[in-house]
Amino acid sequence: MLHPKIADIAATRYILKAFNLRASKRLGQNFLIDSNVVEKIVEAAEISAGDEVLEIGPGIGTLTQGLLEAGAKVTAVELDKKLPAVLEKTLAGYENFKLIQGDILKVDVEKIMPPNFKVVANLPYYITTQILLTLLEKKLPVTKIVTMVQKEVAERMTAAPNSKIYGAMTVAVQFRADVKVAFEVSPESFLPRPEVTSSVVVCDVRESPVKVFDEEFFIKVVRASFGQRRKTLLNSLVGAGFLRENILAALEVAKISGNLRAENLSIADFANLSNALLKSI
Ligand code: SAM
Repeated sequence: MLHPKIADIAATRYILKAFNLRASKRLGQNFLIDSNVVEKIVEAAEISAGDEVLEIGPGIGTLTQGLLEAGAKVTAVELDKKLPAVLEKTLAGYENFKLIQGDILKVDVEKIMPPNFKVVANLPYYITTQILLTLLEKKLPVTKIVTMVQKEVAERMTAAPNSKIYGAMTVAVQFRADVKVAFEVSPESFLPRPEVTSSVVVCDVRESPVKVFDEEFFIKVVRASFGQRRKTLLNSLVGAGFLRENILAALEVAKISGNLRAENLSIADFANLSNALLKSI
């Protein structure tokens, strides 16, 4: 069966009109209309026939179609109640597509996906970080996450220590994955056009190279350290409620100066600090 390409401005306008739909700002709907971008995302995700893919927010099925054409088995979670009827038509004839209508933050992903799945998504910008951190922190059996995010979020995800954009989100993501920016996408590739440039980011999920005794506590310490960026590490941790004497003991064990700021610490430093702090409290 030959399927017309959805990733096209005329096709997208036609579909929206036929279903009497308008892109919802509230749901972060910016539909891809550039088939070249769809192909590049599928390539970045290294899709082989039979790959199990979770797509978050399939919209009218643009990226989904690229994934299905590459042979992926796609399970998609879409919040917008109006879109199942659209997807039924736009993706009619594709066998390996399953749709779950719901909120990705509420769906039990482990129940709907087999082990070793990939996530591929053009994420709604209003909850990008929340979705990514939820996927990574839940330690799901996901191998690769390829997502479109705002360029500024991509920069934070890939930041190195000692820079202003290196933050708690950077550490949380890089703790669980090797992250790189695959390519940038201009606003013209979407309908409607977003106000910002986007980037496609590839996260190769792996075991952390640094040993952490308690991951929840590690994340708590990272968040507390970055809580007040302009304060020293010692003062930030005191401000977050840790006891000064416990912090000082932990800093000594971890061989970290309390006068540093959170942005000066590597992921290994945070691991050593949280391990030492856990022992001292
Ligand atoms: N994948 C399509 C594309 O590339 O053209 C649409 C991408 S659009 C940026 C984001 C999609 O995520 C929209 O279809 C929106 O309805 C959906 N969405 C928003 N919030 C969601 C949530 N919490 N759970 C699942 N889908 C959501």
